[in-house]
Amino acid sequence: MEIGKYIGERVVSGCPVCYDKDTCFEDMYENYSSFLCFNCGMLSNTFYTEDNKERSKLLETTSKLVKDLEFFDDERQLYWYPSIINMGKMGMIFPEGSIDKWVWKYASVVEVPENEKESYPIPGTDGEFYTEKLDVEGAIEYGQYEFLQACEDMGFARDIGNE
Ligand SMILES: [Zn+2]
Repeated sequence: MEIGKYIGERVVSGCPVCYDKDTCFEDMYENYSSFLCFNCGMLSNTFYTEDNKERSKLLETTSKLVKDLEFFDDERQLYWYPSIINMGKMGMIFPEGSIDKWVWKYASVVEVPENEKESYPIPGTDGEFYTEKLDVEGAIEYGQYEFLQACEDMGFARDIGNE
């Protein structure tokens, strides 16, 4: 199905997951909407219904933690999941831990030190190595409701609350 033309964004008046009233956004298209809350970091879209194949695809490829944190939104009849935001050279934000104790992490991209180079071969090449890596060991940790801070630190955040 075509998602259609972009219509605009609006604030969701109360995130279904964390109830925040100012930081949960809906991006609206003619036949589709996506949702992202910058307080709790949960996201959804109108494909994430009970039997949708986009949702099955996500569940096949994502981490156990993402699946464990699945949240069902009664009002919209949609499933919500924690975001994994991969911005290439800007880094990556992802949830880590177990369902009882988890955090947001922001890993930046760093240069691979010369003496570690051989640990990062580029698949399919003969003796070529990555010069940059995601610094997962040095990732910064954030609380469950500090997703916005992680986004700001990565440089991925919209202006929130300055209307
Ligand atoms: Zn939320």
